[in-house]
Amino acid sequence: MAIQDRVRFVTDRSSGKDPVSPWGPSGLEQAPLLSVRNLKTHFFTREGVVEAVNGVTFDLHPGQTLGLVGESGCGKTVTALSILRIVDKPGRIVEGEILLSQVRNGGWDVIDLTQLKPRGREMRAIRGGDIGLIFQEPMTALSPVHTIGNQMVETIRLHSTVSKAEARETAIDLLRSVGVPRADGVFDQYAQQLSGGLRQRALIAMTLGGNPEVLIADEPTTALDVTTQAQILDLLRDVQEERDMAVIMITHDLGVIAEMCDDVVVMYLGIVAEQGPVDDIFHAPKHPYTRALLRSIPSVDSEPRVKLPAIAGSIPHPYNRPTGCPFHPRCVESMPGVCDQGIPELQPVGERQAASCYLYGGT
Ligand code: SF4
Repeated sequence: MAIQDRVRFVTDRSSGKDPVSPWGPSGLEQAPLLSVRNLKTHFFTREGVVEAVNGVTFDLHPGQTLGLVGESGCGKTVTALSILRIVDKPGRIVEGEILLSQVRNGGWDVIDLTQLKPRGREMRAIRGGDIGLIFQEPMTALSPVHTIGNQMVETIRLHSTVSKAEARETAIDLLRSVGVPRADGVFDQYAQQLSGGLRQRALIAMTLGGNPEVLIADEPTTALDVTTQAQILDLLRDVQEERDMAVIMITHDLGVIAEMCDDVVVMYLGIVAEQGPVDDIFHAPKHPYTRALLRSIPSVDSEPRVKLPAIAGSIPHPYNRPTGCPFHPRCVESMPGVCDQGIPELQPVGERQAASCYLYGGT
């Protein structure tokens, strides 16, 4: 399908037209498993409104690994929490759709997660069932007062009708499958008795216990040393391939994106700056923010002792967002009188990319 045929999917923030991702998964043409459309999640505080996610649109297809990348505060974690409907007050989804395709009664059904009660039965079955989440720090997800085994058995039995003994067997098999040595011993241990790498493996095993179609991994390796990081990334890649899961990989690390992802969404201050296949974005980035991010990565070809270019300035205070393109105060290509007037729409640029930038036209 040519990009022009997908143009109907373009986000139109001003007119509120049906906004769906303008780019397809790398070479895949199936319907998306998860479709996030024009998602806006704002936090209403006494000091003002923080527009943490402000019109995010992307599609996730079966078997696809999609990276969400950006600096701290760009809205990538809030996007994940919104999908799982676990945004804490004073935050709430104010606009948009989160469409999840599910097989039901022999056919496909599409549910808008924004319409479900966050603590309702249906959403609880989806959270941890259809959609699994792996946190950066496993101790935030694992209970310190329950053994790994108890927590795994509970997750497995919550999402399937098996006996305790069968769930125990499945849990130990899952621990073995993610490379936990002495799995039956670890089953009876507490999270704080394990190393960081083992804890993350146990959390991955517990998440797999819900048999998710979609796995959201939020900075899954940030808290680990480099050797363990590489092992956990290998493990995630293996389980993704084995189970043909769709994965959303949230990270600030472009190296992880290059290694793990098919497609990438680059976020800045709650909006999608650019999206497209990883190869295209790394070889021909279109948005000035993406170009600046890529220039700031050290390369083996870099001149020794030459300073890496940094992005000028810093992310604006959340209560003090600039008008117009949110990147304009830091953008070396900013056009006064244009870029400071309105938020540029996400639009197709080239064959498979899309960018929110006035350099490519738009209003
Ligand atoms: Fe830079 Fe203007 Fe493009 Fe924003 S819209 S990224 S300020 S050129």
